[in-house]
Amino acid sequence: MISPWAAEILLIAAWLAAALLLGWVSGHVLLWVWLATAAYLIFHLYKLQRLEHWLSTGAGQPPRGGQGVWGEVYYQLYRLRQHHRRRKRALTQYLQRFRELTAAMPDATVVLRMGGGEIEWFNDAAARLLGLRAPQDIGQRIMNLVRHPVFTQSFYAQRFGDPIEFPSPVSEAMMLSVSIVPYGKEQLLLVARDNTRLHKLEQVRRDFVANVSHELRTPLTVISGFLETLADDPEPRPQDRQHALRLMSQQTARMQHIVDELLLLARLETDQGQARREQVEVPAMVRALYDEARTLSGGQHDIRYEAEQDLHVRGNPEELRSAFTNVVSNAVRYTPAGGKIAIRWYADDAGAHFQVQDTGVGVAEHDIPRLTERFYRVDAARSRQSGGTGLGLAIVKHVLERHDAVLKITSKLGEGSTFSCDFPVSAIVRANHVSSSQRSSG
Ligand code: ADP
Repeated sequence: MISPWAAEILLIAAWLAAALLLGWVSGHVLLWVWLATAAYLIFHLYKLQRLEHWLSTGAGQPPRGGQGVWGEVYYQLYRLRQHHRRRKRALTQYLQRFRELTAAMPDATVVLRMGGGEIEWFNDAAARLLGLRAPQDIGQRIMNLVRHPVFTQSFYAQRFGDPIEFPSPVSEAMMLSVSIVPYGKEQLLLVARDNTRLHKLEQVRRDFVANVSHELRTPLTVISGFLETLADDPEPRPQDRQHALRLMSQQTARMQHIVDELLLLARLETDQGQARREQVEVPAMVRALYDEARTLSGGQHDIRYEAEQDLHVRGNPEELRSAFTNVVSNAVRYTPAGGKIAIRWYADDAGAHFQVQDTGVGVAEHDIPRLTERFYRVDAARSRQSGGTGLGLAIVKHVLERHDAVLKITSKLGEGSTFSCDFPVSAIVRANHVSSSQRSSG
């Protein structure tokens, strides 16, 4: 295969030889050489014009260049153009994938210019978490848009690296964890994460530790007080000694009760998933709960119960017993003497319901959603006085969750409450018995 330059030189030589021959024959050598040179120049100008046309239109195949140098030039340019097209296509694909990736990212990502903090780029999550708007916020300084002092101080102090926490400019209720890292020569990368759930959990944990400490401190203070008195006076009067021992054992029982309930809660929380599933004889349980309620009431309330005798559910009998006991004992404890309490166990199209209705002190509307929080009590003194720990309804909620059931509370302050444990239809087991009801009054 002959090289393009060799072909080109051969062409020039042939062209010159033909001109010399014609010049020699005609006797005008110079004229023919000049004509040949002009024709060669025109030929190249034509090739150059076609090249320029092809480059400017960008259309398909390059013009045919033949064996000479133009063929090589066209071919190399064509290869270069194909190579660029392929790279462009690959880059477009990368860019598309990058856009999809950043759009799918749950964390806000913002590229800032170092120094002034001007926004260069941000992803979709930045709009949701930081309230940035495209395109008008591009070029704006981040401090003009995210104005929380924790953020501005950390930015100006250039304390990059450790995440900082502050509420989102979009909503005070949303807690953000923001990290800024320098990258490249002139850029900063800001990553913001929605930390609301973790923040709340941390708050719950802190409250919980404070509550447990507080709950245990009161009985401990009583016990240590009596122990000190007994230490100072080793031979107290028998009635004083009796009194101290009685109160100390009451407080010990109280601590025991709190610890037992905390352990039960911990077990319910650790033992993830559903409760054991066996047939629970709820009607018999309701009857027993009714007897317990009467004992607890000491004849001070009008207590009734009704239960569909063939209505049972699948679940864990101990857990359900513990939950129902809490609801029933609450009704007795929060209903003044002379009040009415009705315990019902029935089914309808929505499922099975264990319902306890009382005419007690009731709960204000804004307190209702918080009743199932650990240690939440509307009237702490009243609760403690009646032996409450503030953990009962938290246990009820957990037990029911493990049975795919829910606790529904309706109440009116000063008029009474209805606590209903609602089980899904799928939990119901029917056994052949008749419905019964019984009434007790005191
Ligand atoms: P506690 O041990 O204090 O009774 P619970 O978790 O069982 O704890 O209940 C939480 C709070 O809910 C109680 O302190 C009380 O204020 C309120 N509560 C529960 N049941 C009733 C009810 N039947 N009537 C009025 N208030 C109730």
